[in-house]
Amino acid sequence: MNNDPDPAAWSRAYMALGWPVALGHRRRPRQGCTCGDPRCEQPGAHPVDGGPEYLTPEQMTQALQTSPGGSLIVGTRQFDAVTVERYAGMYVMVHLELSRHVPCLLTHETATFLVHPGTGSSARVHPAVDLKTGPDAWVALPPSYGTYWDNPPWDERSATPRDLVHGEQIGSLLEGLRGYLDDTRRVGAVR
Ligand SMILES: [Zn+2]
Repeated sequence: MNNDPDPAAWSRAYMALGWPVALGHRRRPRQGCTCGDPRCEQPGAHPVDGGPEYLTPEQMTQALQTSPGGSLIVGTRQFDAVTVERYAGMYVMVHLELSRHVPCLLTHETATFLVHPGTGSSARVHPAVDLKTGPDAWVALPPSYGTYWDNPPWDERSATPRDLVHGEQIGSLLEGLRGYLDDTRRVGAVR
């Protein structure tokens, strides 16, 4: 289902992991983001005004009928989200993947690792590392515009949820990239 553009199946899968899921803005072909801001920095990948309103599966089904194709906004309650510039993220993936499958989300510019909740600060070893943590933070997940899974948060054959690693495991690899990270500008929100 990794290339499925239908948010209904994805929202069900995220909710099955116990994650709070909200419906956000969406990007319309040639018309931009439904937030109406022509300079929107995260077209089709951010919550509606007032912040994410997390829905039950029934509410989501209903909301998708009136607003098909909306982005999926997930609160960082069951994981911390650690975002780095994409090349730095690829380095981490190559060195981690030998032993574990760590959920990793990509955009054109960034890589985001989902780690055990409350441990992401151990990965924040440099100002170029962005951290989303706690009940009020959120990330836009696939099929939101411009986002896709490198590693989804479940085993693709058995659908078994993946164990999350401690942020320290990401942090220790990023330590080796300090020089590189010095040269990258700080990445902002996940997009
Ligand atoms: Zn927007």
